[in-house]
Amino acid sequence: MTDRKVRVRFAPSPTGPLHIGGVRTALYNYLFAKQHGGDFIFRIEDTDSNRFVPGAEEYIAEAFQWLGLPFDEGVGIGGDKGPYRQSERRDIYKKYVDQLLAEGKAYIAFDTPEELDAKRTEIQNFQYDATTRGLMRNSLTLSKEEVESLIAEGKQYVVRFLIHPGEDVLVNDLIRGEVRINSSILDDKVLYKSADNLPTYHLANIVDDHLMEISHVIRGEEWLPSAPLHVLLYRAFGWEETMPQFAHLPLLLKPDGKGKLSKRDGDRLGFPVFPLQWTDPKTGDVSSGYRESGYLPQAVVNFLALLGWNPGTEQELLSLDELVAQFDLSKCSKAGARFDYVKGTWFNHEYILHSDDAALTPAFQEILKQNGIETSDERAEKVVALMKGRISFVRELWPLCKFFFVAPTAYDEKTAKKRWKDYSAQQMAELKEVIANLDDFSMEHQEAVVMGWIAEKEYKTGDIMNAWRLTLVGEGIGPHMFEISHFLGKDETLRRMEKAIEVLG
Ligand code: GLU
Repeated sequence: MTDRKVRVRFAPSPTGPLHIGGVRTALYNYLFAKQHGGDFIFRIEDTDSNRFVPGAEEYIAEAFQWLGLPFDEGVGIGGDKGPYRQSERRDIYKKYVDQLLAEGKAYIAFDTPEELDAKRTEIQNFQYDATTRGLMRNSLTLSKEEVESLIAEGKQYVVRFLIHPGEDVLVNDLIRGEVRINSSILDDKVLYKSADNLPTYHLANIVDDHLMEISHVIRGEEWLPSAPLHVLLYRAFGWEETMPQFAHLPLLLKPDGKGKLSKRDGDRLGFPVFPLQWTDPKTGDVSSGYRESGYLPQAVVNFLALLGWNPGTEQELLSLDELVAQFDLSKCSKAGARFDYVKGTWFNHEYILHSDDAALTPAFQEILKQNGIETSDERAEKVVALMKGRISFVRELWPLCKFFFVAPTAYDEKTAKKRWKDYSAQQMAELKEVIANLDDFSMEHQEAVVMGWIAEKEYKTGDIMNAWRLTLVGEGIGPHMFEISHFLGKDETLRRMEKAIEVLG
């Protein structure tokens, strides 16, 4: 490889929401670019107008913003190799199609869909190639005059790549090693369609990679079958010297078996397969997204980075900077990576645990508001700090933390049966007195006085704490008792105790 600047691209087709596998592909491109001080380019491959879905491009751009993986160049950003949307590059492609035609490396074909269908029934395993192109209506079988008059009449045509049989095609893949095929198995792929005056994916992809000076093509395994054709196109244009290095990433597999991860797996097992929520513009169907499901973007990035690659150590929690430093494209696995969504939940738990309390507070405040609670950021943050170790998603805080904000109206029966003894009402009444007499309500002071009282009375600490918890929380959950009473304050603590003594008797 020459020491050219590393330039990689993420080149989705705007056909719908971005699948999580596509996000992993983009992430590997990003890591590779950043590790080599290179550029990460965003190109939109929208030459197939039939498959265009409105909103998809905006969705993809927003997803990378959320994930914190910014592009250096491309759609919505700019750069000196634009435009970066293929539908805006028609004139550029036309020139290269004409070049191949002029050099006899491609030809014009007039066969209608019906004629092609007829041939398919006539010839078993029909493929448009060296063995059959002589039987078809194209510029190799028709005279120059006929071709010109058909075009002048406005007949639709396609341009096909003329593939010479019996040639050895070598794809040198950074992950898969040498992939060799014989050109005889390839068909004369359509490169351009007069109907919409646009090239097909193959031509546009090659021309753009060349003009945008792409050094490495890192993409999903599903594109591996196209790679030999792409190599032949580079040869045909005489661009072999600057041909990008290929790396085809392994598939993401179903969590519970073989086969490719699909949206249906997500629906079935209850996890998102898209980065952001997506509403289908045609059907109105809503698909869940990682963002809306409460994942932190850094957790998603870390989780995805380890699907198909690992640092070769036990370390699983890696910041983006660490990923950039340690990622190794050549160490990606060839085998598919099982999509362990439970592990994704674990990553979120870990990232929540290591997040700043203040960073999680707005999301918790949102949930509090939805439940009719108005409280200061300071108090919300305090609860986050006390409880974030027990959750995988911020939304799980509400059922665990409701009691901080709402006094219990009922007492969990099972807990009461077990924890509220015959003497509990009496003990709680005494404890209430002890607490009422506290001037200093700091946690340390409360604890010292209450523990002293327990010792003096020779009560069992467990009896007192369990019953007290029931009075303040209504069930057997929550952090250290003095954390709770301190948060509630003296008045609210006494109120709740009185009520419980009354109700539980
Ligand atoms: N437009 C293709 C896609 O949707 C790009 C494949 C490639 O990276 O070459 O994934």
